[in-house]
Amino acid sequence: MRIDTVCIHGGYQAKNGEPMVLPIAQSTTFKYDDAQFMGDLFDLKANGHFYTRLSNPTLEAAEKKIAAMEGGVGAMVTSAGQAASMMAVLNLCGAGDHIICTKGVYGGTFNLLGTSLPKLGVSCDFVDPGASEETLHALIRPNTKLIFGEALSNPSLVVLDIEKFARAAHEAGIPLIVDNTFPTPYNCRPFDFGADIVVHSTSKYLDGHATALGGVIVDSGNFDWTQNDKFPGLTCPDPSYHGLVYAESFGRSAYIVKARAQLMRDYGAQMSPMNAFLLHSGLDTLALRMERHNQNGLALSRFLAGHAKVSSVHYPFLDGDPYDSLAKRYLNGGSGVIAFEVKNGREGAARFMEGLKLASMAIHVADLRTIVLHPASTTHRQMSDQQLADAGIGPGLIRFSVGIEHIDDIIDDVEQALANA
Ligand SMILES: *Cc1c(COP(=O)(O)O)cnc(C)c1O
Repeated sequence: MRIDTVCIHGGYQAKNGEPMVLPIAQSTTFKYDDAQFMGDLFDLKANGHFYTRLSNPTLEAAEKKIAAMEGGVGAMVTSAGQAASMMAVLNLCGAGDHIICTKGVYGGTFNLLGTSLPKLGVSCDFVDPGASEETLHALIRPNTKLIFGEALSNPSLVVLDIEKFARAAHEAGIPLIVDNTFPTPYNCRPFDFGADIVVHSTSKYLDGHATALGGVIVDSGNFDWTQNDKFPGLTCPDPSYHGLVYAESFGRSAYIVKARAQLMRDYGAQMSPMNAFLLHSGLDTLALRMERHNQNGLALSRFLAGHAKVSSVHYPFLDGDPYDSLAKRYLNGGSGVIAFEVKNGREGAARFMEGLKLASMAIHVADLRTIVLHPASTTHRQMSDQQLADAGIGPGLIRFSVGIEHIDDIIDDVEQALANA
């Protein structure tokens, strides 16, 4: 089935007499009659739900829908996108390990990988997304366990050369993890280009309505964890599961089963059933919404590019954008996020934002409403001027998240606000 259809029918299909709409299993726990079966559940020998910290039917429906959309073997939802990124990395790394991440990633990811995980002993090198394969190879050490990148970076809108990063990772026997939040599987399927694991903040387009915080990890099932001895967590016995070896017992699903059985069990950053319901419902219209976001994003970026008060516009499908050829290779559309700079810097940016009537100033992005944000004073304010410059974020850069309102109303609003910028 095409993704438009999977959006509506994936994850949950009502059987005879069952509710048409996914029910919310608002329960922490599940009742069983058979002690032996419960023991088998605990030992991962049987399938079933026993405690919502590990799994729940509503969460499972959202997971199955997203896994189908991405073309993966399994998925695990999390309480937030941050928890998805954290667990995707910690599922493979421990103290003494090293990872590589592209520069220009989401500020929360930059802090997680650059500040918090190093406190646990996992160090990170940030690399220019335009780096050559030789540069990447030179950065990979014996203890490097993965490469992490963003398919379309927030807010610098760099399109990741997924095939280049996947090749560099695979030659070193390590996986590539791609944050696919901005493109969504409607605009990009990183597994088709060699990525091994995908993470999302579902708080953005996947939910789409700004109702539920969430994240998800999706496993392609394509990475062979047994090819070397870099991943003992997957290839050696887990003493906390009676010596079970994930790669032997679960084959292509080893990574995602371990993420749940070990990390979700121990960290507990689980999504709530209500949020999984909202996510699953939001996904019903993802294809339709993304089609409109793509159209509106392109139309507004073209309008901005021709405006006298605007000094630069970044949008992957804008002619002449530095990433337009990568965008055509990897993306079906540019999504709704545009980054642009007004000529009058920080002050001009502030006047522009305060003059908007339809677009809302909010700490959010990739939503069905048009939203505007100034990264240097909000999401990225912990970064130094140098770190901002490295991430491609100028002081007057505005991140404009085009919604699915009528494009003429959006352009009218931007036009009147730019008059005073
Ligand atoms: C928002 C975002 C995150 C973090 O997600 P939360 O749901 O806010 O925790 C991670 N990556 C990207 C690209 C994001 O835009």
